[in-house]
Amino acid sequence: MIFKNDLQFSRSLDEQDPLKNMRDAFIIPQHNGTDAIYLCGNSLGLQPKAVQTEVAKQLSAWATKGVEGWFDGVEPWLDYQQSLKGTLEDILGAGAHEISIMNSLTVNLHLLMVSFYQPTNKRYKILMEGGAFPSDQYAVESQVRYHGLEPDDTIIEVFPREGEYTLHTEDIIQAINDHADELSLVLFSGINYYTGQFFDIKAITEAAHAVGVCAGFDLAHAAGNVPLKLHEWKADFACWCSYKYLNSGPGGISGIFVHEKHHSDITLDRFAGWWGNRRSTQFKMEKGFDPEAGADGWQVSTAPILLMAAHKAALSAHGSAGGIGKLRQKSLRLTGYFEFLINSVNTGIGEELFKIITPTDPEHRGAQLSIICQQNGKAIFDYLTEHGVIGDWREPDVIRLSAVPLYNTFTEVYLTGQLLAEAAKKFN
Ligand SMILES: *Cc1c(COP(=O)(O)O)cnc(C)c1O
Repeated sequence: MIFKNDLQFSRSLDEQDPLKNMRDAFIIPQHNGTDAIYLCGNSLGLQPKAVQTEVAKQLSAWATKGVEGWFDGVEPWLDYQQSLKGTLEDILGAGAHEISIMNSLTVNLHLLMVSFYQPTNKRYKILMEGGAFPSDQYAVESQVRYHGLEPDDTIIEVFPREGEYTLHTEDIIQAINDHADELSLVLFSGINYYTGQFFDIKAITEAAHAVGVCAGFDLAHAAGNVPLKLHEWKADFACWCSYKYLNSGPGGISGIFVHEKHHSDITLDRFAGWWGNRRSTQFKMEKGFDPEAGADGWQVSTAPILLMAAHKAALSAHGSAGGIGKLRQKSLRLTGYFEFLINSVNTGIGEELFKIITPTDPEHRGAQLSIICQQNGKAIFDYLTEHGVIGDWREPDVIRLSAVPLYNTFTEVYLTGQLLAEAAKKFN
């Protein structure tokens, strides 16, 4: 599509947008009495209006039934999470039995590493992307130490080539092959939080399997953002959070994926809790942990129903949009338009003030664009903020902006381009 840098054009894209009504399902933060331009869904997705209703329903169930709520009523809490899995199956490309909704993200990463990182004398190394999200780095370092190993000798990080910002899939595969005999696990994010690069999960998984190790993925920035096919790609395990592109609220509940090929492997260690026990015998309260079949066997604690209610409301918004395929269609156009507008600012001033480090190939990115400001980045970011654009600033010079197909419009992206052009004139 040929884009145009003008307001009429952006409005016509909004008119043609089959998802235009979805925005009404969300509460938009305000700036000076009008809607802010919220481009921070990569950090905290907006609140769906239905969250209040859904949470209120469970508060009321608690009020009227007390403990009976676990077994009684239209949505007994005991199996509440099962009703959330349908939309997640679409989002993740996984079967319901491979998904479990539980805990928070870093906790789940730890629990999965307990099962899938089992170092031996010869095979003990973990290969991951350089510059992974700090929580993942800390989790991996502490797991390594827990096994009595030294992080420096154990964690292999793959960094971009000299002068580049993102990774070549062939370099990742090469690194896996270079360490074939000493690897114990390959662990990547789906989308890197800083650059917005969407990794080739299938290729990484195949390379890991070819050298005989498992591949796991942190999908914090990928779930609900890009289509995934975890089952088909044969990823061994994955986890994600629900508060970024899944709009389920600050600190919202996380989830795990465990590929079905591991479900009957009794050699996998796990840190067990009663909620992961086979449901049919859980309340016999007997000695001897007997895991539930499938990913639910990794559950540990009593289901946090209020968080799940918020998640349920948010997932139903994804469902009403027609699923991840429909969202991705709009996302490709929205982010493509945004990229075009940012590059137009550079053309306008005759230099590359804004350098987009996110891959230009739409297949290798999601909604987010990470932009290096070559000069006065903070002043430019503050200018956006003063004019009602909510984005995300990363020291020393990166602005991350994500136009989210569920609630952002082409006109918002156009107006942000205008503000960037003004700021460029003012501060360059
Ligand atoms: C957002 C994010 C986290 C945050 O983890 P929490 O346990 O939810 O605080 C972890 N890892 C990645 C890659 C993230 O993007």
